Amino acid sequence: MGALPKRKISKQRKGNRRSHHALAAPALTVCKECKATALAHHVCANCGSYKGVQVIAV
Ligand SMILES: [Zn+2]
Repeated sequence: MGALPKRKISKQRKGNRRSHHALAAPALTVCKECKATALAHHVCANCGSYKGVQVIAV
């Protein structure tokens, strides 16, 4: 047999540990060019611009 826990982890202790497990919502911004929502610090997937400058052709 391998190593086993000495005691059962209580519901409270388990819940306290998992209180940090929630996923955060992605940081969304509005594109300057097409006004669509885009990920912050990323090239707009809709029109291919970044900070109001056309970076990639779509
Ligand atoms: Zn855009």
